[in-house]
Amino acid sequence: MNDAPADLLTVDQALAVLDEAPVRPRVMRVKLQDAEGFRLAAPVVADRDYPPFDKSLMDGYAVRSVDLQAAPTELNVVGEIAAGQSASVSLQPGQAMAIMTGAPMPDGADSVVPVEDSDSAGPNRVRLLATAQAGRFIARRGSDCAAGSVLLEKGTKLEAAQLAVAASIGAAEVDVFARPCVAVLSTGDELVPIDQTPGPAQIRNSNNIMLVALLRRLGCDVTDLGSVNDDPKLIRQSIEKGLQSDILFVSGGMSMGQYDFVPKILIDLGVDLKITKLRIKPGKPFIFGVKGQGARGEGQVYSPLAPCPSPLAPAFVFGLPGNPVSSFVCTLRLCSRLIARMSGWANLDRWISAKLSAPLETNGPREFYQPAVFDGSIVQPLKWKGSADIYTLAMANALIVRPENAPARPAGAEVKILEIPS
Ligand code: AMP
Ligand code: MG
Repeated sequence: MNDAPADLLTVDQALAVLDEAPVRPRVMRVKLQDAEGFRLAAPVVADRDYPPFDKSLMDGYAVRSVDLQAAPTELNVVGEIAAGQSASVSLQPGQAMAIMTGAPMPDGADSVVPVEDSDSAGPNRVRLLATAQAGRFIARRGSDCAAGSVLLEKGTKLEAAQLAVAASIGAAEVDVFARPCVAVLSTGDELVPIDQTPGPAQIRNSNNIMLVALLRRLGCDVTDLGSVNDDPKLIRQSIEKGLQSDILFVSGGMSMGQYDFVPKILIDLGVDLKITKLRIKPGKPFIFGVKGQGARGEGQVYSPLAPCPSPLAPAFVFGLPGNPVSSFVCTLRLCSRLIARMSGWANLDRWISAKLSAPLETNGPREFYQPAVFDGSIVQPLKWKGSADIYTLAMANALIVRPENAPARPAGAEVKILEIPS
């Protein structure tokens, strides 16, 4: 492609186009046991106060603090409350009740003396070796959260702790956003499957497995359509199949070479190409297209049991450069934005500021994403060997973002980085 940089969209302009794509995330109801990793489509609300009663935080003795202004003091033990039980009588002056961690406080008691601060003083009698203050070692009813309060916002990802919260309020089923169904296709006469021996001029298809993994990490259900030769008929057939998904990713054949058939086929199939060129390095040949009208997902009844890809249009297409690092970077930086919206959450870019371990040269006219190693504070730029260099990418856990025409930066300067999700 020989476009002057000014003819290409900037990354920010491309993101704005992606943010306008009509999307309506599908919602499905799943058992909480099956909800891990999904995002909530509705908030989780407290069904009652938590804790639901004044709760002892210690194994020990429930007491009236007025009885324990001096230590030691002896009290009559009038009962025992285990976790899961409630006292049937209230505590009178001069009395204590044995109580276990997590058990409800008896009426009349306002403090707990830990068992470590007690001695037996005969049958049903205890000697308490510490004074007591009202409220000590008690979690008050509602002190964690009040009935009706929102505990998990819509869009929250359900991981271990969030699942525990949902379980605690009895959300046996939850409404979550369905994962986008996406398909991955590579094109190129030179490609052979990974289990075949390539001829002298051939290479193994490494993009499919990379993109499948990255897209799964980004929250998609992925169908691997393998690779097809640079044959317009075969490419068209595979693209038609892929367009049944929410999003089709095609890598290779995207530029202006004699065998770069993909853009024309997409247009022939009625795909409206919203982005065709991009000022990003690596990754100039980048396509985003929409096929069909309305919002993807609108009016669709989605069931986790329904086949994926889903049969209803419209669909989105990303045309990615064949060069592996380019397709990786474009997917992570750009396509992830649409995936996030289709999954019901806003992908707020999580930029991190880091200090350079080594100087960087002046950047050219395209926004540059340079593989790097980030250790939590310092970022080490890896030597850029070009957009085919997956070997360096495989050592990276972050990308340094260089704005268009950025000046050279010395070691120690602050730069913006994007973490590679793991
Ligand atoms: P293209 O975008 O089709 O011009 O391809 C650009 C470069 O990426 C070429 O060197 C291709 O051989 C390489 N390439 C294309 N597709 C793949 C793939 N699926 N796996 C690995 N390399 C690829
Ligand atoms: Mg090619």
